[in-house]
Amino acid sequence: IEITAVDLVVLEELGKGGYGIVEKMQHRQSGIIMAVKRIKSSVHDESQRRMLTELDACRRSDCCPQMVRFYGAMFREGDVWICMEVMDTSLDKFYKKTYKLGQRIPESFIAKMALSVCEGLNFMKEQMNLIHRDVKPSNILMNRHGQVKICDFGISGHLTDSMAKTVQAGCKPYMPPERIFGERRSAYDVRADVWSLGITIIEIAMGQHPYAQWKTPFEQLKQVVEEPAPQLPVDGFSEACRNFVRRCLEKDYSSRPKYPELLAMPFLESARNEKTFSMANFICEILDS
Ligand code: ADP
Ligand code: MG
Repeated sequence: IEITAVDLVVLEELGKGGYGIVEKMQHRQSGIIMAVKRIKSSVHDESQRRMLTELDACRRSDCCPQMVRFYGAMFREGDVWICMEVMDTSLDKFYKKTYKLGQRIPESFIAKMALSVCEGLNFMKEQMNLIHRDVKPSNILMNRHGQVKICDFGISGHLTDSMAKTVQAGCKPYMPPERIFGERRSAYDVRADVWSLGITIIEIAMGQHPYAQWKTPFEQLKQVVEEPAPQLPVDGFSEACRNFVRRCLEKDYSSRPKYPELLAMPFLESARNEKTFSMANFICEILDS
């Protein structure tokens, strides 16, 4: 179906990010409910056009169950509106609520989440030669059926040039050492996303981002480059889990594994074989508490 902005009715706000707002909207004619991300129009035309082209490529990800379904993108008053599947929560909101309830994120959850993310990112790389470039808890979405999906593919790369400076101020560092201080975008490698996944796992496993939040953004980035990579404590985590994270967080990206190697690691193997832990049950339990 053809969707135009006038046919969309706002139902509620789903969240706010550095680039704009995400709202739940309903398409008047069809009744279809979707999440619409509105990106403010400070990106210039050429960059917007390239973004739409790349977003269009995301249509082809529809057969990938680990990608949030993409319905289409359009211009509206100079802004870019991105229409996608509505999910029930994002990993950032979810882990914060879990800790607030006095619970922890189980390792089985982490394993299944990491498996979905690796499968999704591997698919996009293999089928479309696309790298995400902005893997972080708020871009990992989940629903009550226990599905874990990645969103915001193809957006970050086009915004970084013009908007990164202002946005980064409030951002926690998920970027790997090789991306920090003066490296060009052309140097992007899939393994940047692997590092970001490692940071994401530590954040949800420990309940806080591994780099000290009271420091300035510049000091944090310096920490990423200069300090040893963060790791999970021995207490409370299996060897397979700690090893997976340790490999994701190899500071030298040339020794960091790509997806085929990660997908073959015992930690993700355990996620494939785990039959007793239900993502759906855990997600519903937390959302309903
Ligand atoms: P961020 O930089 O935090 O990812 P975004 O603008 O991309 O900012 O998203 C803001 C929030 O909106 C996210 O944290 C998430 O909770 C929510 N959100 C984004 N997309 C969806 C979606 N498709 N379904 C449900 N919630 C969403
Ligand atoms: Mg996002």
